[in-house]
Amino acid sequence: MNVKTLSEEHLNALTSIVGEAHVSIKSADLDQHARDQSFHEPRRPAAVVWPVSTEQVSAVLKLANQQLIPVTPWGAGTSLEGNPIPVCGGIVLNLSRMNQILEVRVADFQVDVQPGVLYKDMNARLARSGLFFAPDPGANASIGGMIANNAAGTRTPKYGATRENVLRLELVTASGEIIQTGCHSVKSASGYDLVHLFIGSEGTLGVVTQATLKLAPVPEKFSAVIASFETIAGAAQAVSSVMGCGVMPVAMEFLDVTTVRAFNSAGGIQFPEQPTLLMEFHSAAEAGLQAELELVRELCDAEGCMAFQSGLGREERDRLWSVRHQAYEILVRNNPGHAFLIVDVAVPISRFPELVAAVEQALARRNLSAPIVGHAGDGNLHTLIPYTPGDATSQMLAHVADAEMVEAAIALNGTATGEHGVGIGKRQFMAREHGSSLALMRAIKNALDPNGILNPGKIFEETVFSDR
Ligand SMILES: Cc1cc2nc3c(=O)[nH]c(=O)nc-3n(C[C@H](O)[C@H](O)[C@H](O)COP(=O)(O)OP(=O)(O)OC[C@H]3O[C@@H](n4cnc5c(N)ncnc54)[C@H](O)[C@@H]3O)c2cc1C
Repeated sequence: MNVKTLSEEHLNALTSIVGEAHVSIKSADLDQHARDQSFHEPRRPAAVVWPVSTEQVSAVLKLANQQLIPVTPWGAGTSLEGNPIPVCGGIVLNLSRMNQILEVRVADFQVDVQPGVLYKDMNARLARSGLFFAPDPGANASIGGMIANNAAGTRTPKYGATRENVLRLELVTASGEIIQTGCHSVKSASGYDLVHLFIGSEGTLGVVTQATLKLAPVPEKFSAVIASFETIAGAAQAVSSVMGCGVMPVAMEFLDVTTVRAFNSAGGIQFPEQPTLLMEFHSAAEAGLQAELELVRELCDAEGCMAFQSGLGREERDRLWSVRHQAYEILVRNNPGHAFLIVDVAVPISRFPELVAAVEQALARRNLSAPIVGHAGDGNLHTLIPYTPGDATSQMLAHVADAEMVEAAIALNGTATGEHGVGIGKRQFMAREHGSSLALMRAIKNALDPNGILNPGKIFEETVFSDR
C-alpha cells in the first residue's frame, strides 16, 4: 500500500509544474515530512512538492489523479493524530509557500488568506487593525491545517472552533478542478453547506487554496479566575453553573491535581493542590467584568470552591494563565525520557464529571499516572499519558488506556475526538461512533475522490493502493 518512489517521468512532470526549487526527494526533506507531533510511526513520502499558486495545486492533482499517486496535503505538521503522515507514500503537498494575507476587510471583520499562513503570524498582523482570528490550537499551525482538522483550543466557549469562523473556501478537488464555495455574507441559506463539509475533512476531500475567515475585535478588557474545588464533581458542576448564568467565559479550563502539582513545580504562580478551573472573560468595560467576577465567585462558592483568585486587566490575565500556556513544555520537562500519547475526547458538559471518573479509572487500572486537562467549557478533555519510547509494554498500556477513554466518551454521547481529528489514531472508533452514517461518509469520499488519492489511510481504515 505504498508508492515509495516516483519515476523520472513523474518527477520531471512535477518539476515542470512547480519549478526545480519546489520539488525535493532529498532524504532530509522526506524525513521532515514523515512525522507530525504525534506518537504515530513515521512514513516517508516519495517526494515533497511546494506549490505557490492554486493553478499549480490543480496541475499537481491532475497529474496525481491520472497516475494514481497519493497526495497528502501538509500545513505546519503540528497534528497530534498522524493526520498529515503520508502513510501511502506518494507526494506530500506542502502549502507553506502559499502564505499571503490577501485582503483584510476591517469593516466586515473578515480576512482572505492563503492556506500556508500561520495563525499566530496572521494575528500579529491583524492586531494593527484591532482584529484577531479566535481559534487558538496553541502550536503555530497553518490556516489550511486548522481548517482541515477543525482545530479549536481554549477560546471555543465564546468564539467557537475553526468551523464557526470560516465563511468561504477556494478548493482544488482530487481531479484538479478549482471550486469556490461559501460567500462573504455571514448569513446564507443557499444550497448545501459545502464549506462545512470540507472543514474537518483532513485533506481527504480537497486541498484548501484560499479561505475567508471571520474575525473578532481584539478585546479591550480582560479578567481571569483560578478557582480550586474540594472535588472534581464540584468543579464540573461549577462549569455548568457559570455557563448557564449568562456570563460567557472566553475560556474555561479544567486541571486535575496531577496537573496542578506539575504547574506548581514549575515555579511562578502557586495553585492549591485541588481540582481547579481556570477561566478568562473579555468585555468592553471594566465595570461589567467586576460584576461578572462577583457572580462567578458566588457560583463557585456554591459548588465547594476552597480558594478563588481573580484579577482584572491584561497583565493579571497573563499572570494567572502563564503556566497553562506552557503546560505541554512543563509536562515534557517533568517526564524526562518519556513521550506522551495525548488523548482527545469530548462529551456534553453535563457528562464531564463521568468522563473524568472514567479516565481516572482507566489510568488507575493500569497503574498509570497522567495529567488530565480539559477545555471543560466545551466538554473536551485531554490526558497526557507518558510512555517510554521503544518499550512495547509501556506503549501498549498507553494505547489500551486511550482506547478505554475513547469508548467511555462515545458511551457518554460524546465523540472520539474533540479537536485533534481522526488521522490514523481514531480510525478504529469511527464505526462505533457514527454507525450507519459512516457508509454515507465513505460515499461522499468516493464521489469527490473516486481514485482515493487524497490523504489515503486517514479517517477510514482501508487504503486503496497496492505497492509500487
Ligand atoms: C503542543 C501542541 C498543542 C496543541 N494544542 C491544540 C489545541 O489546543 N487544539 C487543537 O485543535 N489542536 C491542537 N494541536 C494540534 C494541531 O496544532 C492542530 O491540529 C492544527 O490544526 C494542525 O495544523 P497544521 O498546520 O500543523 O496542519 P498539519 O498537521 O500539517 O495537517 C493537518 C491536516 O490538515 C491537512 N491539510 C493541511 N493543509 C491543508 C490544506 N491546505 N488543504 C487541505 N488539507 C490540508 C493535512 O493533510 C492533515 O490531514 C496542538 C499541537 C501541539 C503540537
